[in-house]
Amino acid sequence: MKIYADNAATTKMSERVINAMLPYMREVYGNPSSPYEIGQKARKALEDARKRAAAVLNCEAKEIYFTSGGSEADNQAIISAARLGAKKGKKHIISTAFEHHAVLHTLKKLEKEGFEIELLDVHKNGVVSAEQVENAIREDTALVTIMYANNEIGTVQPIREIGEVCRKKQVLFHTDAVQAIGHVKVDVAKDNIDMLSLSAHKFHGPKGVGILYAKKGILLTNIIEGGAQERGKRAGTENLAGIEGMVTALEDATKDIDGYANRLIPLRDRLIAGLEEIPYSELNGDRKNRVPGTVNFCFEGIEGESLILLLDDKGISASSGSACTSGSLEPSHVLLAIGRPPEVAHGSLRLSISEEIKEEEIDYIINSVKEVVEYLRNMSPSWRDLVNGKRKHVFMH
Ligand SMILES: *Cc1c(COP(=O)(O)O)cnc(C)c1O
Repeated sequence: MKIYADNAATTKMSERVINAMLPYMREVYGNPSSPYEIGQKARKALEDARKRAAAVLNCEAKEIYFTSGGSEADNQAIISAARLGAKKGKKHIISTAFEHHAVLHTLKKLEKEGFEIELLDVHKNGVVSAEQVENAIREDTALVTIMYANNEIGTVQPIREIGEVCRKKQVLFHTDAVQAIGHVKVDVAKDNIDMLSLSAHKFHGPKGVGILYAKKGILLTNIIEGGAQERGKRAGTENLAGIEGMVTALEDATKDIDGYANRLIPLRDRLIAGLEEIPYSELNGDRKNRVPGTVNFCFEGIEGESLILLLDDKGISASSGSACTSGSLEPSHVLLAIGRPPEVAHGSLRLSISEEIKEEEIDYIINSVKEVVEYLRNMSPSWRDLVNGKRKHVFMH
């Protein structure tokens, strides 16, 4: 059996998406900035794509900036807000400890420039409250940046309420919605969002293309300098085929969120229930307040890396955390942020399923994880110490 259960790392493009891209490679290959017919056809397609993206997010077309992906959108949103704040003497930025590295590393860079970064606690359940944000906002707060859904554990934040607090206090609010779009309803107007980042390859679109939504009136700072593309805010010839694929994928992924949730949640919960049968294991993050497809567990006495390799042998593609940190021996910053001790954070498994998955495949995953965890524990010195009582268990059972 071959099961792809790492949709939070990236997704498979649908045939519809691939077909939507082909004409822009084969026929309409002109540069959207060129004045002749094939260029102008490309220009029209680009502006239509912008309108379609705006319709999905509930904003104006001129508030959509096409980028090279989620990382670039996060960088540009945060740097822009920091520059705007600094002009008014505001150098305090609020975020959380479990953001994506595209956010955290940008904040680190700003900290070195003299910004004060405050990372809010996300508690054991992996959720920050609007009240925490309200209490943290100061006179000199330039930006609040909080992710919509977490990429490792899948928990969803109360974005609408946080947005409301930011509006009330007149502080810019950015959200990394890369793991939320297509999984929960996202509406920049209703959710009181000033800036939002998206990445196509997380919702069955192509890699290397994304969106930064920035509410009109927000002056963006360029990350890429050059030509006057994207209203002068993002230079570089537009990736039109990628943009066409992304917008098609965006429409497909958002057209029936309720149906998607109704189909996927029972399968996700079956997976959770099955994995909970493994002794000394625990689900990471809130049980209900999570995207429909993502499940993350910690197992005592094993290394996540070995677990992933053995699952691969059984045909299952999964992750031990975010793809960006795997390969390094650092425990996941997300799991540490929700209070998992390092020795337990090392034994984590993220399964992120898509609608393609079948019930038999869920059962196959459960049985495979059970087998592999038992196998690894039998060879693990740290598990032996737990069994012998030399070390104390972290989990109750
Ligand atoms: C994948 C991801 C990103 C980065 O997006 P890219 O398009 O790969 O640069 C940013 N934030 C979150 C939450 C992600 O999951």
